[in-house]
Amino acid sequence: MIRPLSAFADNYIWLISDGTHAMVVDPGDAGPVTDALQQADLRLTAILLTHHHQDHVGGVQELVASTGAAVYGPATESLPTCDYPLSEGDHVGDTALQLDLDVLDVPGHTAGHIAYAGFVGGIPVVFCGDTLFAAGCGRLFEGTPAQMMASLTKIAALPHDTRVYCTHEYTLSNMRWARVVEPGNQDLQRWQEQATAQRTQGQPTLPSSISQELACNPFLRAQQPAVTQAASQWAGHQLNTPVEVFAALREWKNGFR
Ligand SMILES: [Zn+2]
Repeated sequence: MIRPLSAFADNYIWLISDGTHAMVVDPGDAGPVTDALQQADLRLTAILLTHHHQDHVGGVQELVASTGAAVYGPATESLPTCDYPLSEGDHVGDTALQLDLDVLDVPGHTAGHIAYAGFVGGIPVVFCGDTLFAAGCGRLFEGTPAQMMASLTKIAALPHDTRVYCTHEYTLSNMRWARVVEPGNQDLQRWQEQATAQRTQGQPTLPSSISQELACNPFLRAQQPAVTQAASQWAGHQLNTPVEVFAALREWKNGFR
């Protein structure tokens, strides 16, 4: 079972458990994790980290001190602590949790950002940190548009039914912008209605799926004629390559309110 623990204003810490053991992904705050472990009487065995930002690693030291959990994280980033430095080609497995994950290098948001893709309980999943968001993507703090586009393309190539566990509840604000980029996208319109209803009821909009992202996320749709045209119009000149379109989309989103 995978469930979100809310942290800060809009972060999700994903808790993976079998009723006895647990892992968490990107615990920016120890408090929500400690509460969940106590409430369900779970033993934390591992912490998976996607990148070095404080709102993803801030709870690591406290959790390691209280539980002794092993820490897995990106090999090339500076982390509070890390027992298993990982990069693409590495693997994380856990028999009790039926967890079987491959590590992907997905630079762009940060230079050493990794994602974990594979299966939990036989269900295809990806924990992508701040790389791919529902109908959006992470900001380019340490990478180029070409790097981020390649990283997103790698994630988008996962099986279509893969559940996408992003780490922020940005869905509705991303969708407001995506509707401006592609006002004629009916899949996006339907998903926005569904996500709006979920938020009204206080539910998370995540996980999404690769098929939803391919149908609706402008950052995965830079080669769609409607998206190319909208980005060119915003830029004020014709954009000729998918990377130019992607770069314009990212700048457009950065300034969108
Ligand atoms: Zn981040």
